[in-house]
Formats: sequence, structure tokens, C-alpha cells
Amino acid sequence: MLSFWEKNSFLNYDFIIIGSGILGLSTACCIKEKNKKAKVLVLEEGIFPTGASTKNAGFACFGSLTEILADIKNLGESATFSLVEKRYKGIQKLRQRLGDKNIGYENYGGFELIMNKHMHCLDQLSSINKNLNHVFSEDVFSIRNEKIKEFGFNESQVKAVIFSKFESQIDTGKMMYSFIDYANSLGIRILTGCEAASYSEKENYVKVFIKGNDAGNKIELSAKKLFICTNAFTNKILPDINIKPGRGQVLITKPVENLKFKGVFHIDEGFYYFRNFENRVLFGGGRNLDFETEESTEFAVNEKILSDLKKKLSEIILPGQNFEIDLSWTGIMGFSKNRLPVVNNISDRVACVMSCNGMGVALSSEIADEITGK
Ligand SMILES: Cc1cc2nc3c(=O)[nH]c(=O)nc-3n(C[C@H](O)[C@H](O)[C@H](O)COP(=O)(O)OP(=O)(O)OC[C@H]3O[C@@H](n4cnc5c(N)ncnc54)[C@H](O)[C@@H]3O)c2cc1C
Repeated sequence: MLSFWEKNSFLNYDFIIIGSGILGLSTACCIKEKNKKAKVLVLEEGIFPTGASTKNAGFACFGSLTEILADIKNLGESATFSLVEKRYKGIQKLRQRLGDKNIGYENYGGFELIMNKHMHCLDQLSSINKNLNHVFSEDVFSIRNEKIKEFGFNESQVKAVIFSKFESQIDTGKMMYSFIDYANSLGIRILTGCEAASYSEKENYVKVFIKGNDAGNKIELSAKKLFICTNAFTNKILPDINIKPGRGQVLITKPVENLKFKGVFHIDEGFYYFRNFENRVLFGGGRNLDFETEESTEFAVNEKILSDLKKKLSEIILPGQNFEIDLSWTGIMGFSKNRLPVVNNISDRVACVMSCNGMGVALSSEIADEITGK
């Protein structure tokens, strides 16, 4: 049974946000930055954030050339270019909010390795540059084929390299740790190990029901407004929403002697990506090899994908170089049907937001700003 004091001080909030990933924390911080007096609570099922935000590759990117061209096929030019702009603006907002040092921000640029299959995309490079000039004020992409040899890639497979000086990298763990510190400094309450099971709308407030057994107490929290930021796990709360999970496999090597490259690298429309981290190579992707199995919220390894990553690492990225895998893991992304951010205002009091489609580092700050108003 709850005491008078518990009922009086712990149950009622102005805003409740479910999910403490980068989007949930960005939303909570935006609310507090705009309204210092608001009582804001974030609920997190894990002991720390356990979705995509602590598992990702830490690319501060906005889409490689082949990825942008694939997006144009699905979304059309105008929606794609505005998405690129939102991603780029989102990265700048994240940097401003937390500070470059606190997120391990480093700018070594971004590169795309072009294989035979995508050589035709180079024909569209100058038109994409022109269309994105209003975002970057100069050419965003240029060809840098000399990097194939300089970086030690397999010259029989990599046919061209595209460079963008506007892409950067962050330290994902540092960024999320700093984000929690920042949220705490604003007076945002974060309850971890706390799964929101469901909610129910009343006339003037929303009730949020917490799963679990807190000494037999049935915990019902209430807020004037609820934001559901649970990404790939949203269907547990809102079964009808069209967000599909997509598992991503990542591995990291032990430090590689004389590693020749720095920066973030894309291959094959963003389906593969790698980067340096303190002389290690972080390499991920391969979901496109087995889309069906990877549409899962289970943090399990797909051996077929993992062995493909190891093969590509030794044949394309580090040919003839010795390396050892230190660790591999999976993370779960959320995907909307058309790859656009989902802002679903279920009512005046409840919104479900899923910004990311594999690019939440870039998009979350911008989307959070939009959904929290002035
Ligand atoms: C392997 C991988 C690599 C990636 N690489 C990049 C990259 O380089 N650059 C980039 O921009 N993006 C990348 N992404 C995508 C990016 O990580 C995501 O878009 C972003 O983290 C999504 O943030 P989020 O807050 O929406 O969701 P999440 O981080 O998934 O957060 C959702 C949170 O909600 C919690 N939760 C779920 N259900 C409940 C509940 N019922 N009650 C309470 N809490 C709940 C979860 O525990 C989780 O912490 C990558 C993703 C993966 C998986």
C-alpha cells in the first residue's frame, strides 16, 4: 500500500516520457529547456538505456551518396533532401546541447566505398551536390579515389571512394552517459528498471501503468502529457502502430597495428558501415542478407551475418593485415514504412514518436525540438 507521502510526491508529473534512448532524453531535455518549472519523468525498462542508443556505431552522418539515391527512389527528391537537412541540423543540435568533448565528437570526415554495382551512382554526384548546396553551402561530396590505396582497401573490389568533410563520429557510450548527466542537471527524474505496461487517457490527464511488483504496490503514474519514445519496442504498448524492428549486427576488433584509416565509412546504400575507434575497427551491418530473420526484437546473433562481416573485414577493409575480433553485439532499430520519422499524435495528451530509421544520432535532437513546440 502506498503512503500519503508517496502518493503526494512521486506519482504526478507534467510530462512522462517512456524510453530513455537518445530520442526520449532529447524530448525530456527540450521540454525542460523550454519550461524550467515542468515536472518531467522518464521511464526506462533497462538498468540503463537498452535500445539502439547504446548499441550503435556512433556515426554523425546524414546519408551517403548511394543511400541518398536509394531514398530518392522511395521518397522522392524533396522529402529526401529535407530529411538530409534535418539529420545535419540534428547533429549540430546534439553538439550544442552536450558539447563536443562530452560526446567524443571527432571530425575525420566520411567516406563511401563504391563497388562495381554502384559505379553508375557517380553520374549523379554533381546533381546531388547542387541540390544540397542550401544545406552545406558547398559541394558535400567529392571523389577521392587515391584513398583506396592510401587506406589499404582491396583495390580489386573498391572501384571509387566518395568523401564528405561534413561527416563525423562520436563515442556512443560517452554521449549517452553525458546525456543522462545533462538530463539530471536539468532536474529531470529518470526511473530505470521501470517498464511502462500500458496507459489510459482520462479527461485531464493520462495514467501510465507500471509493470512489475514493487512490494505488491500497483504503481499508476499520471501526467498531463505522455510521449512514447520506445522505438523498436513500441508495439508492446501500441500494438497497431506500424513500426518494425530491424536488428543490426556490430563487431569491434582489438587495436590493429598501423591502422591506415580514420573516419566513418559506408558501403552499399548504408547497409554496411565501419569506422576507427582508438585504432580498432568497428564494423556493422548486413541486415540485407536476411531481412526476415532480422525483423526481430531479440538481441541475438545471426551467424550468417556475423561470418559475412568477418569475411568482408578481411577481404575488403583489412586485406593482408592481422586483426582479432574483440567483441560483437546486436542492437535493435525501429523502421517506419516509408523511412520517414513517425510523429503520431494519438491525442492532445499522447504522442508516439519514432524518429530514426537507423539514423537517430542525427535526427533525434531535431525531432524532439519539433514535437515539444515553442
Ligand atoms: C547497430 C546499430 C548501429 C547504428 N548506428 C547508427 C549510427 O552510426 N548513427 C546514427 O545516427 N544512428 C545509428 N543507429 C540508429 C540509432 O541508434 C537509433 O536511431 C537511435 O538510437 C534510436 O533512439 P531512440 O531513443 O528512438 O530508441 P532506443 O535507443 O531504442 O530507446 C528506446 C528505449 O526505450 C526503452 N523501452 C522500451 N520499451 C519500454 C517500456 N515499455 N517501458 C520503459 N522503457 C522502455 C528501451 O529499453 C530503450 O532504452 C544504429 C542503430 C543500431 C542498432
